[in-house]
Amino acid sequence: MNQQKRILSGMRPTGRLHLGNLHGALENWISLQSQYDCFFFVADWHAFTSDYAAPGDIRRNSWEMVLDWLAAGLDPKQSTLFVQSELKQHAELYLLLGMITPLAWLERNPTYKEQQLQLQAKDLSTYGFLGYPVLQAADIIIYRANGVPVGKDQLPHIELTREIARRFNHLYECEVFPVPDALLTEVPVLPGTDGRKMSKSYGNCIFITEPEEDIRRKVLQMMTDPARKRRTDPGDPEVCPVFAYHKLYSSQEEVAEAAHGCRTAGIGCVDCKGILIRNLLKRLGPIRERRLQLERNVEEVRAGLKDGIERARKESSATMERVLEAVGLSG
Ligand code: SF4
Repeated sequence: MNQQKRILSGMRPTGRLHLGNLHGALENWISLQSQYDCFFFVADWHAFTSDYAAPGDIRRNSWEMVLDWLAAGLDPKQSTLFVQSELKQHAELYLLLGMITPLAWLERNPTYKEQQLQLQAKDLSTYGFLGYPVLQAADIIIYRANGVPVGKDQLPHIELTREIARRFNHLYECEVFPVPDALLTEVPVLPGTDGRKMSKSYGNCIFITEPEEDIRRKVLQMMTDPARKRRTDPGDPEVCPVFAYHKLYSSQEEVAEAAHGCRTAGIGCVDCKGILIRNLLKRLGPIRERRLQLERNVEEVRAGLKDGIERARKESSATMERVLEAVGLSG
């Protein structure tokens, strides 16, 4: 294991995870944990930046998410798993970084304006929403992480984190913070059952620990190529969400057969979906089983989290000692 390199990443507590979460982040985390010293956390304070008016049951959602993390293969013995709000050191560093971060850096962040437009139903003209990349920076550098796995859309945030780390080191003439690198991760885009982006708010998700009969029903109701109205019409697999799933869950031969069968009307959508259902159940079955086991052994999950919180506390406290010394607040 590349123990000297530390990776950090977090997820907002959204409750049970869906296949978009699995392929968009979790699978990558699982593969990283055998290569790096990984810190993965439940970003529960972040949930308030956009959902402060109706945060929902954050504790419950955090717990459900952690169970799914472990069911899918995160290992608390290999990775440090923790809940952000248990580590008040994040808030202390966030406060200090807020003092040194120029407002213009936050206002020019492209996701700030984009998200305000996308989430117009919420009033996001808040100090917390503008400043959440500073909290993100604190989350990362408090563990002196060397790398952060991100998709392209998150690159501006990592750049901001790098600028904040450099500014702190420069202002206080120290080397407290390594400047973290973005580990750019290409993730497959998996559409929801209606062809739009998979999202709980659209009600188009397949959950990673969903019961078999629900998976069967959802796949059978999935949207297909809308131009393929009759069984005898040839279709275009590249516009069909079912085919996007085949690419992830079926063998190369099955993918080739589905593509050919679709284009020549040699296979019907029900049969094509049947192959997908079989493969999806095979892949998700062990995750569902593991989740049931974990639900019967919640003490094991609590112990794993407790260990992670202790490890995170040790690391974040050590950094804060150096930070306070650098700014002249120690002793
Ligand atoms: Fe989609 Fe398969 Fe039907 Fe083609 S045959 S439209 S890939 S479900």
